[in-house]
Amino acid sequence: MINDCIFCKIVRKEVPTPLVYEGEHVVAFEDIAPIAPVHVLVIPKEHIASLHDATAAQSVVLAELLQAAIVIAKERGIADTGYKVLIRTGVHGGQEVPHVHVHVIGGAQLTEHIAPEA
Ligand code: 5GP
Ligand code: ZN
Repeated sequence: MINDCIFCKIVRKEVPTPLVYEGEHVVAFEDIAPIAPVHVLVIPKEHIASLHDATAAQSVVLAELLQAAIVIAKERGIADTGYKVLIRTGVHGGQEVPHVHVHVIGGAQLTEHIAPEA
């Protein structure tokens, strides 16, 4: 089924976005509004609305998202200094794009943002 979400459009190349990584089930590209020197998004090629919507049968896709994050961190030279892997999920998780995505963030010391809003 054709989905009109922005990340599906990137997968279909309807929104031109250079890919920094492509695997069997996933692609990765630069976040349009980076919050650190390295800020890459890894997404499944198929539309999965959020982490919570992934089925057991899609576990291979979830695993590939994390494997891709590892490869990207190595390629960007942040494997030794460390980085953050983030999957916002649902409203309280702050998820804005309803297509599951893994943020790979690094290249600087990162602060924590896990507390509830004041
Ligand atoms: P969320 O808040 O859902 O975890 O993260 C969504 C991320 O997607 C944000 O960091 C935002 O900057 C990024 N983003 C939203 N729209 C686009 C887009 O059209 N292209 C790219 N490359 N990134 C996007
Ligand atoms: Zn989608």
